[in-house]
Amino acid sequence: MSQYADIMPDSGAKFIDFRSDTVTRPSNEMKQAILDCDLGDDVYGEDTTVNALEEKISCMLNKEAALFLPSGTMSNLVSMLSHCKRGEEVLVGDQYHIFDAEARGASVLGGVALHPVKTDKFGAVKSEDILAAVKPDDSHYPITKLVCLENTVSGCVQNQTDMDEIAITVKNMGLNVHLDGARLFNAAIAQNAKVGDLAKNFDTVSICFSKGIGAPAGSVMAGPKDLVDYARRQRKLLGGGMRQAGVLAACCHYGLEHNVPLLKHDHKKARYLAEALSVIADLSIDLDLVQTNMLFINPGEDAASLSAFLYEHKILIGSADTVRMVIHLDISESDIEKTIDAFREFYRN
Ligand SMILES: *Cc1c(COP(=O)(O)O)cnc(C)c1O
Repeated sequence: MSQYADIMPDSGAKFIDFRSDTVTRPSNEMKQAILDCDLGDDVYGEDTTVNALEEKISCMLNKEAALFLPSGTMSNLVSMLSHCKRGEEVLVGDQYHIFDAEARGASVLGGVALHPVKTDKFGAVKSEDILAAVKPDDSHYPITKLVCLENTVSGCVQNQTDMDEIAITVKNMGLNVHLDGARLFNAAIAQNAKVGDLAKNFDTVSICFSKGIGAPAGSVMAGPKDLVDYARRQRKLLGGGMRQAGVLAACCHYGLEHNVPLLKHDHKKARYLAEALSVIADLSIDLDLVQTNMLFINPGEDAASLSAFLYEHKILIGSADTVRMVIHLDISESDIEKTIDAFREFYRN
């Protein structure tokens, strides 16, 4: 149940909700795409809308095959379980979602060890730290098998040259590389690049449709055909085999076509909001971290009262010491202006 259930009986419909880009509701046009799509049983491989999505994403990412899954978490989990056997190990950034926010599923369910590697304030890992964590062939250690990188990390676009260098180096050592690209389209739009180029040196890549792309659910992982075939078995084993999953895939198709080009507006709004808030003396914000659709503010001593004040103005943010604000399809320009006014009013007090 939502932590806001007691105070949000209308489930937030009229709130300006900055908590995450997952809170978007499917638009009427997206819902219409569900009515118009062809469906079949996807566990039998017969949902043509899902098949077309898998085909489209494998082409975009220049991979042999792709697999549709209900969530990004399952996408990453299935990827790790397909790369690694029990007793093998994944190296992953300590701030990354795979290490920090997926309940260590690969370890809990797959007997796969996760080794955290230090990330800097932009979410980057250093090549030398990755290499130092690769274990020698010694029975005291797990067998290092996979390196997982992420892009974007907390809204920060990762340096592509560094990412490619890490990927190529570890592949030359016989390891595999996976990219958690939950927000890879944000990374691509921000640097005017193609997702296929960002994903080029990675064996497998996962992307999410329920973030800025605005679908209610859905993720795709892409990679070599034999690995994706095995991943399909893992998906079934985990209970992720869905039947007429085209109802979700139709939303993903819609989002790819219509909402991906709109991500640039989220980025502009985030920048605009961040710059306006940076003028407020009692609030601090690191503008260097505002690279896509997220900003992080340190509200000062008054985090809880700020959050309560904004709530009265029908604006939802978290109330931690550092508050993440995420821009998405359901936040308009006038919502941003209202929010700036509310912040100014609060800090004037
Ligand atoms: C959201 C997200 C995921 C997947 O989360 P789900 O809620 O399971 O879709 C994975 N990685 C990153 C970086 C994310 O932001």
